Formats: sequence, structure tokens, C-alpha cells
Amino acid sequence: MPIESINPYTGRTERRFRAFSWPKTERILGQTHRAFADWRTTTFEHRARLMRRAAGLLRERADALARLMAVEMGKPLADGRAEALKCALCCDYYAEHAAGFLADEQIATEARSSFIAYEPLGVVLAVMPWNFPFWQVVRFAAPALMAGNVGLLKHASNVPQCALALEKIFHDAGFPPATFRTLLIGSDLVEKLIEDDRVRAVTLTGSEPAGAAVAATAGRQIKKTVLELGGSDAFIVLADADLERAAKTAAQARMINSGQSCIAAKRFIVEKPVIKEFIAQLKTHLLALRPGDPLVPTTDYGPLARPDLADELTEQVADSVKQGAKVELHGGQSQPGTALFRPVILSHVKPGQRAYAEEFFGPVAIVLEAKDADDAVRIANDSRFGLGGSVWTRDLERGEQLARRVEAGAVFVNSLVKSSPQMPFGGIKKSGYGRELSYLGIREFVNQKSVWIA
Ligand code: NDP
Repeated sequence: MPIESINPYTGRTERRFRAFSWPKTERILGQTHRAFADWRTTTFEHRARLMRRAAGLLRERADALARLMAVEMGKPLADGRAEALKCALCCDYYAEHAAGFLADEQIATEARSSFIAYEPLGVVLAVMPWNFPFWQVVRFAAPALMAGNVGLLKHASNVPQCALALEKIFHDAGFPPATFRTLLIGSDLVEKLIEDDRVRAVTLTGSEPAGAAVAATAGRQIKKTVLELGGSDAFIVLADADLERAAKTAAQARMINSGQSCIAAKRFIVEKPVIKEFIAQLKTHLLALRPGDPLVPTTDYGPLARPDLADELTEQVADSVKQGAKVELHGGQSQPGTALFRPVILSHVKPGQRAYAEEFFGPVAIVLEAKDADDAVRIANDSRFGLGGSVWTRDLERGEQLARRVEAGAVFVNSLVKSSPQMPFGGIKKSGYGRELSYLGIREFVNQKSVWIA
């Protein structure tokens, strides 16, 4: 089966690659596994020097990388550039901090000396999605390589050029080629890879079914996994919030990457006295955004990454309307089979509707009415997901209290949810487990070894 780059805006096939066979994949796995023996003995200073070079290349090549993202998955150029620069920041962050995060930790016991040592595991397989084709990978690769692990990337089948460009960055930065390899393979070879003893751990970002499949295989092999799956983040607006700021940020938070972000705000839970005004303002902000060709600099949002994703979203909206939701802003596809999807606002969303229960991975704002703050938290937590959330109120103390009650891996008060290298990132419930970024992220794929000297 070929692996193809298809421009979602034009529908044109840009590049076609022959998928790697199992013998080729297995050969690369062998090289990567052998490279680990040397790589694990290198110093943090050496790894940091290379990682800083990778950061430099990400900055130098930001425009070219942005173009690749635009052509392969529809991200506007300015957003693609920002993504490349954020990757550079992450590389620099781990170049600077990895040695400290993984330094031996002395523990007081009755031993002469006892401490925790953090040692690399070996080959880590990363199964990654197309929505942030560089950022999703770098936030795994930078800490993994700095920890002394080696990485194999199985990227989403619609972003092969991004996958190869990232591999080239690490190689051009001076990392030995076999320490980081891109495998152009379909998901059919993932199980076989995980079953191979040389793969020591797996990280996956993507949908719930993909996460469950990978974790099941890894579980049978007793291998560690980190899963970063979907989310249906609550954006709670209390009656005392700065409504103008909240509505403006709501539009931005829903439209991140044309709505295709696991931490995009998806459910807007608004206290009754301000719900009408909130919807009116949200509508104004959404209508002000210009859709179009992601390669044109004035475009605010591009198409979804694939037409089938837009078709699926249309179906979710249509079913929800049949089930009683009300359309406050009519958008969507111009016709089935096209990837551009204009923003939609749904209100009167109730339990039993798809909009209440499912993740909508595109520009559909789901508005729910709350009687009061407690009711808002109850609705926020009435979800199978638990990735992020935000609370909007002028009373910061109350905001913090409510943030503690929202069941999610991250809650922001008066801000949209975002990831940054310093703070851990990950979810609970069906949003997955384990953490990326911060010192917690780099400690996921290491042997936390107790050493006791009597
Ligand atoms: P998938 O979860 O199918 O794809 C993510 C990655 O997993 C890809 O590399 C894919 O490979 C791989 N994969 C898929 N199925 C398996 C499997 N059974 N075993 C091993 N690997 C697998 O995402 P989709 O592109 O289908 O998007 C569908 C939905 O997933 C979205 O609507 C959204 O809800 C969610 N999603 C969440 C993301 C997040 O950031 N958490 C990112 C992207 C999607 P291949 O491309 O070859 O199939």
C-alpha cells in the first residue's frame, strides 16, 4: 500500500512513497537496537550539543517545514512556523535540563549509600498523529534521545514528508543515523514491531481505538506505554467572567489547528445569565476568521487534514441536530468529500446526543447551559475524557477551587489550555495515561533503578 501526501485543500496527490516492507523495517529496527549500545554511553553534554543543533535547524528551516505542514495536512503557514519554533524550544529545554532531571537521587536509608539512578531503556517506538506533525514527535523525541534512548517513528500515513524532514533534522544535527529513524509503514506493521523484544516501550498519540490496540499488544508483551488520546475539554464560563475576553479566547481555543487538537476547547459550559451574550460574541469572532488555502498568508484557518474527517464531523453534527441540538451558527462542508469545514455552533446539547458524549475533532463549538458553578463542574466531569479544561471567572480563588474539581490532566484559569515544555502534559480516563514534557515526561521511558550499597 503506498503512503501518500495529499494536499487536503486542492485534493492533489503531492508525493507517493512505497511503504517499507517488514524485512526493511526489521533491518532498521536491528540497526537502531545496535546503535543504542553506543548511544547510551554518551555524555549529557554531547547529547545536549546535538540537541541544540537540532533546535537551530528547526529554526532555520521553519518556513520550509511550515510549507510541508500546509501541503500535507492543511495548517496555515504562520501556525506551522510557530509549531517549528516551539519544537526548537523543546529541544533547547531538554538540552539544558535533561542532566538535572536524570541525575542520581540520593535517598537516606540505613545503607552506606542508596540512590535512584535513571537509565535508558533502549528502542522506543512512537506512533504519532498528523495534527501537529512536528510537535507531537519532538515532545517525545527530545526527552527520549536526551535520556539515552533511541527512537523509531511510525508517523500518520498522511504526513510522510513531515516525518522524513524531522528525521533529516536529527541526522543533520549530528545524531548517529540509527538513533532516530522514520519508518514509512502502515499501522498493520505496528503489532509486529511491538512484539519484537528489541522494542522496549511505546508511546502513542491519536485516537482511542488506536491507543487501545497498541496498549493491548504492548500489555501482552509486558511493555510500558504512554497514551495521549482524545479529549473533549470543558471551557467553563461563569457569570462573573470577563465575557469579552472569554468569548474571544473561546473562538481561538476552538479553532486551534482548524479545531483538530486534543486540547482544543470543545464543550463550552456557560452559566445561564450570560449564555445568550456568550453565543452572540462567539459567533461574531468565528465569523471574522477567514478560511482558505493554508499557503496563502492571509488565511486564518485551513481545511481539515483529510476529507473523510470532515465527512465524519458532518455526520456527528447532523445526528446531534436530529437528537435535539440547535444550530446557532451554520457552517460545515460545502459538499461531502471536501475537507474545508466552516465553524458551527450547537446549543441545547443534552445527554443522549452525540454532541454531548463524543469528541468533535473539528470546528464545532458545543454550548451547554449550567445552572451554577457546581452544575458546570458536574457537566464538565460527565465525560469519558479527561485531558484539559479551563475556568473563566474574575474570582481567582474560586477559579482555583473549581480547577481542582475538574477531572482532567490540566486545568487553566482565565486562559486557553496549551502545552509547554515546563509543564506535564497528559490525561486521565479515556484521554490516556502517562505524562509528556517537564521532568515527568523524561522519566517515563527510563529504568528508575534503586542502587543500595551496604
Ligand atoms: P488515528 O488514531 O487512527 O491515527 C494516529 C496514529 O495511530 C497514526 O500513526 C495511525 O497510523 C496509527 N494507528 C491507527 N490505528 C492503529 C492501530 N490499530 N495500530 C497501530 N497504529 C494505529 O487517528 P485518525 O487519523 O484516524 O483520526 C481519527 C480521530 O483520532 C480524530 O478524529 C481524533 O478524534 C483522534 N485523534 C486524536 C489526536 C490527538 O492529538 N490526541 C490526533 C489525531 C487524531 P495510520 O495513519 O497509518 O493509520
